[in-house]
Amino acid sequence: MNLEKIEQVLQKEPNYRRKQVKKCLFQDLINDWSEATVLPLSLREELNKSFPISIEAETFISKNKKSVKALITLQDKEKIESVLMCYNDNRNTVCVSSQVGCSLNCAFCATGKEGFTRNLSFSEIIEQVLFFARFLKKENKKITNIVFMGMGEPLLNYDNVIKAIEILNDKDCFGLGIRSFSISTSGIIDGIKKLTEENKEINLAVSLNASNNKLRSQLMPINNKYPLDELLKTIDEYINRSRRKVMFEYIMIKGINDFDENALELSKIVKNRLCFVNLIPCNPTEKNFQPSPTKRIKKFKEILEKNKIVVTQRYLFGDDISAACGQLVGQNKKSDYK
Ligand code: SAH
Ligand code: SF4
Repeated sequence: MNLEKIEQVLQKEPNYRRKQVKKCLFQDLINDWSEATVLPLSLREELNKSFPISIEAETFISKNKKSVKALITLQDKEKIESVLMCYNDNRNTVCVSSQVGCSLNCAFCATGKEGFTRNLSFSEIIEQVLFFARFLKKENKKITNIVFMGMGEPLLNYDNVIKAIEILNDKDCFGLGIRSFSISTSGIIDGIKKLTEENKEINLAVSLNASNNKLRSQLMPINNKYPLDELLKTIDEYINRSRRKVMFEYIMIKGINDFDENALELSKIVKNRLCFVNLIPCNPTEKNFQPSPTKRIKKFKEILEKNKIVVTQRYLFGDDISAACGQLVGQNKKSDYK
């Protein structure tokens, strides 16, 4: 799908057609322009020819039916993955990718291991959302949240991510409230600064994953460029401006970053902020990292709570379809370690 083409097709059309076309695409969630019966036949044919909206994807549904992974094939045959998570409280969250691969090579992440291929266009980001919106429509359900936690580093594809959010937020288009969007970043300071200037109430999540610079640089090489103290200062500016609670993501890796001292250190670096810590049991990827045992996570959580840090624990979604965090690799391959 290439949303820029749509403007070319509509160039000679009266203005109200634009509104109709947007409604068909983003609200009626048509699969094909032939379903857009409000439009004249000739325009439907022209749109189908110049701006096809079918999405090539394979879907995998988890055993408990709560998560669905889509392996989407893009026009240049690159593949990306997106995941739908349906929570018991009626939230339907779509986790979208922002890049094909990722250049940042975090030690625990399957996407990082694949290397970087290219940025996604804003249309390709929106396409992932439309795929699941159409999917949910069949069950009379709607997307309630969009998180940039799939493949890639969203703040290294800043313009396309923001443009996609603007279109998805636009009342004449998809119309999802701005507070329903979350961007997860490995800590790209320049990107967080730009996001602060946008003055939008987008939720920010930061993948911390370590409680000191030495450990963080080992796990996430980007920490050498954007070290912790400077990162935390930048995050504080974001909190002050947006008044949104920031989520610090912390992957719990057995014997690596899950000791009592790490919990104490982490408490110190995040305390006194409008924030919470989200503990994520590490999903095994090819490197020999294992999730911390449940008992260890419990103790770690207790230490944080004793230090007055709000803690949530991420529920493991879709690991039977390799749709869990850090397992998205853009290929139809079930991991060997499952
Ligand atoms: N690049 C961004 C967003 C994509 S990664 C970022 O790093 O934040 C999305 C989330 O998946 C991050 O919180 C990351 O820390 C987490 N993740 C990566 N590998 C993981 C693994 N093996 N187990 C659990 N979570 C993982
Ligand atoms: Fe890239 Fe995020 Fe994976 Fe790190 S965790 S390699 S930043 S996708």
